[in-house]
Amino acid sequence: MKRKFLGIDIGGTNIRAKVISGEGTTLGERKTRSDARMGISRLMENLAGLIEGFAGEGVSAIGIGIPGIVDRASGTLVQAPNIANTRNFPFTEALSEKIGAATPVFIENDASCAALGEYRAGAGRGSNSMIMITLGTGFGGGIILDGRLWTGESGFAGELGHMTINPLGPPCAGGGRGCIETYVSQVAIKRIVREHPELREKLADAEDEALPERLAELAREKDQAAISVWNDFGTNLGVGISILVNILDVKTVVVGGGLSGAWELFIGKALEEAETRCLGGAKRGLQVKRAALGDDAGALGACYVAESGLGGRP
Ligand SMILES: [Zn+2]
Repeated sequence: MKRKFLGIDIGGTNIRAKVISGEGTTLGERKTRSDARMGISRLMENLAGLIEGFAGEGVSAIGIGIPGIVDRASGTLVQAPNIANTRNFPFTEALSEKIGAATPVFIENDASCAALGEYRAGAGRGSNSMIMITLGTGFGGGIILDGRLWTGESGFAGELGHMTINPLGPPCAGGGRGCIETYVSQVAIKRIVREHPELREKLADAEDEALPERLAELAREKDQAAISVWNDFGTNLGVGISILVNILDVKTVVVGGGLSGAWELFIGKALEEAETRCLGGAKRGLQVKRAALGDDAGALGACYVAESGLGGRP
């Protein structure tokens, strides 16, 4: 019998699921609310309901991307700041019990799943090693070295947002200061706009969620203050890219996430800065690409997690 894999991407708002064949063809898709902020038991209910919808598919394994730190071997969700009441939660055990099926379940960090998705089927296709940067609420990422997701010695790798680019900079949720996430993320845009006397006034009516889009509109209308914020955003992103490229000598950097919608407003400065800071050998052949799969990357990457969990392609 041909194998099928179910990949699930848990977000703050939605859970997206996708079934692919062993050859990578999408066979089905579904979406439901996650209600992650209402706690882990509500999330597990929603998740189980979604999986039940695929009961007739006969999937060989389930891969799940979760916004948090996971212990892959034991299937434990160690920590997830955006899912209430969650610390060392036995995720795969609880889910298997709930769905009452013997289908193996594998978990992975959500940003790592997105990186795997882009690597195998999106902008990173054909590369050997790749860094994915996800510009969303925070600055997330994933690292693929020699075809394998690099998860680190303790499963923590890919926390790209906490590269320090200014030790005296704004405080970061992780406890440090001046992490790149405090300059290049949705949270950063919010801080920068609210601290800017002119922009604060121009965007006073914008909800936090809508701020990046509104700021992009202003910049496209040639507002100089808005243009300058996106320029700095690009420059700081370029600094981050150069740090990663100088250390890892990876030739493909893929940039995705909601804020990549403002691509043309920041990518020029980002490339300019990366070009200045990357050392000769590291910068030769470097390609910085825009992510190609959008919201699909996470669920697709989770399908690959299911596949490699069963001992398929890494
Ligand atoms: Zn930090």
